[in-house]
Parts: sequence; structure tokens; C-alpha cells
Amino acid sequence: MAQIDDLPPLRDVIAAHGLNAKKSLGQNFLLDLNLTSRIARSAGSLEDHTILEIGPGPGGLTRALLAAGAKKVVAIEKDSRCLPALAEIAYHYPGRLEVIEGDALEIDPVAITGGGKVRIAANLPYNVGTQLLINWITTPDWPPFWSSLTLMFQKEVGERIAAAPGSKAYGRLGVLAGWRCNGGILFDISPKAFTPPPKVTSAVVHLTPNPAPLPCNLSSLEKLTAAAFGQRRKMLRASLKSLSPDAERLIEKAGLKPTARAEEIDIAGFVNLANTFHAAGAL
Ligand code: SAM
Repeated sequence: MAQIDDLPPLRDVIAAHGLNAKKSLGQNFLLDLNLTSRIARSAGSLEDHTILEIGPGPGGLTRALLAAGAKKVVAIEKDSRCLPALAEIAYHYPGRLEVIEGDALEIDPVAITGGGKVRIAANLPYNVGTQLLINWITTPDWPPFWSSLTLMFQKEVGERIAAAPGSKAYGRLGVLAGWRCNGGILFDISPKAFTPPPKVTSAVVHLTPNPAPLPCNLSSLEKLTAAAFGQRRKMLRASLKSLSPDAERLIEKAGLKPTARAEEIDIAGFVNLANTFHAAGAL
């Protein structure tokens, strides 16, 4: 097993602090230091960034980020049982780890990271991971406050984020992520790497902001993709009728076939649809 610092092995930390994993908090701990180091390295340059980590738990990825040279890690952890273990890491890396106890869904990430360059890296709790990602990729300001996201999801979620048109996994998440971000799945992680092992394979996703997404109103794109994929088996002329009785004409005006289905439409197509429906006052 690789040694990355002088702190005790994670297994001992978990035992010493009684951190038996709680399912309700999505706790599957990653104890393999080779893997945590690989994820930390995948995030990009760390020396010049503050890293926002969600759910450090006993601190495996946190330690890898710090050992790899992160200027500072700001971590949000909901489970107070983890705080003493994290305090030991903060003591080992003076001034470089700040832990905030709370719910990442309720904490303003910009306020706690202090306005400099930020990367987000996390082994996300599965129950809030997708919502956090959506929050980060739908910030009103673009480019956003973060310069990269390096995130572990259930593989199925990773596939939806990275999905191309025509695939089963392609949906709202893929359109929003593909519109505003570049990147995709870097590698898979077997359930065996976690304690306790989850039921499914995980995937590490790396995204960077697309500096110039096709011009489109975010809320229009969200509403349009919700209508189109809400009834993904239907033709667009039927699924978009809820937005406008004139849907068929507007779809043609956007340069698309009213008989096409949502999963056949690429991101530029969705942008054209959202802009056309928006201009017609339908969104
Ligand atoms: N980073 C650790 C690792 O890789 O071993 C733990 C990852 S575990 C999948 C998810 C972590 O997120 C747990 O420590 C859990 O307590 C924490 N967590 C769950 N829900 C949270 C929330 N809403 N806000 C912040 N942390 C949360």
C-alpha cells in the first residue's frame, strides 16, 4: 500500500474514531491511496487553486489532495463524527485544510472558497451528487467560480453526464453538461475499492467550463429539455406541445424535424429550439 504522508492508515483512523459507514449519508469510503492519489492528480494543477471537497469523510481524498500539493482544501462534511479525524489532518498540514460542518446543498460555495481560483474534487455522496453537479453547472454567471470538477459518481450517472445524442443515457443532464462543459469519464472504479463496497461500479468524471457555450438562455434550455425528455419516446411535435400550441411550426423554424425524438437532437439543436421557443414567448 502506498504511503503518502505520516498520518495513520485510513483503516486505523476509521476504527479509532468509530466511523462505521452510514448508508443514509451515502458513506462508501475510499481507502486505496493509489486511487485517491490518482483522482487528486486528475484534478489538474493544485498548487495555485483552492480545492473545494464535498464529503471528506475520514479524509482519504483530502490527504491525497494535500499530499499532491493543493494550496488549500476547503471541505464540507455533514457527519460530525468525521470532524476529529479531519482535525488531525488539518494539524498535519497547518493552514491548508479548513473543514466546515454542514450540508453542501445549503452552503454557498463561493463565500467559503474566498473568490480565488477553485477546483472542486469529491467522492460525492450518491444521494446528493447529481443535485450538486446541476447546481454547479447551472450557475447564473458563466464562466463559473470553479475551473474544474473532478467527481466520483455511480457509473450510470457518469454515463448520463457524458452521453452523446442517440444513446440511451442521453438526457437533460447530458445536454446541460455538454452545453456548458468539456470533458467526460476518466476511469471507472470497482466496488471493491470502497469500504463498504457499493452495489455498482463508480466512475470519475472530469469537467472544465466551456468558455463560450452556444448563446442560450439557461432557464429556457432547462424548460425545453424537461419537456422534450419528460416524454422521450414521443416525437418533438407532441412532447413540446405543452410549451406552445404552435410547437410544430417552431420546431421547423429551429431547423429540426417535428417527427424527431428528443434523444436524436444534438446540443446545437436543443439550443436552437430553446432560442426559437423563447423568442416566440413560449418559454
Ligand atoms: N471522501 C470520502 C472518501 O472518498 O472516502 C468519503 C466519501 S462518501 C461517498 C460521501 C461523504 O459525504 C460522507 O463522508 C458523508 O458523510 C458526506 N455527506 C453526505 N451528505 C452530505 C451533504 N449533504 N453535505 C456534505 N457532506 C455530505
